[in-house]
Amino acid sequence: MSAQHRCPGVSRRSFLNGVAAAAIAASFTDFVAIRPALAQTALTPDAALQRMMDGNGRYVRQRLQSFNEDLSILRQDTEEKQEPFAAVLSCADSRVPVEILFDQSIGHLFVSRVAGNVTTPEIIASLEYGVAVLGAVLIMVLGHANCGAVKAAIAGKDVPGQISALYAPLRAAVDQAGPDLEAATRANAKIQARSLSEASTVLAAGIKAGRLKVVAGYYDLASGKVELLS
Ligand SMILES: [Zn+2]
Repeated sequence: MSAQHRCPGVSRRSFLNGVAAAAIAASFTDFVAIRPALAQTALTPDAALQRMMDGNGRYVRQRLQSFNEDLSILRQDTEEKQEPFAAVLSCADSRVPVEILFDQSIGHLFVSRVAGNVTTPEIIASLEYGVAVLGAVLIMVLGHANCGAVKAAIAGKDVPGQISALYAPLRAAVDQAGPDLEAATRANAKIQARSLSEASTVLAAGIKAGRLKVVAGYYDLASGKVELLS
């Protein structure tokens, strides 16, 4: 299957025309309006982003608060429902423990992880669920330093099994930024964030309604800092 055919944006756009997209935009607003129990967070997208960055600041200063929270109470409170205020698309890399580096605990973040933090149809579906059903008001696509997936895509060598399936969705970043690993990783986070905003009619409707913000970030392994990319 070619990269073109694998692109969720192309297939979805051909399926959903402008009229359908407008209907979804309206139903998104209705959905949020008629189900306030699910649109739980009172945070604006900007306030949600600030909460994430504040948490990262505590992580960098080694002043984590989330570990002081009573986990048994948090588990109890979230047994029947979850109300994450933000969603994160991060790499599967073991050095990027999303909840820890944003100092968040049970029920706060809806995290989707895949090597290279790329937007496959399954990832888009997950994030649509996090936003439209659970009420997250922010999505951060988080690239990171020394990303093995981006490194492999730059090298483009034969690899065992299905690892090379990651090459196609990372291709645009490598084409745009060249062989510099950090530049390609930053470009990829921005490209995937844009792809989410544009390829998903559900997420695009959330952005249009002012209920959602999609941002890209870059995590520095050495300093622990998350930098917002614009
Ligand atoms: Zn990675």
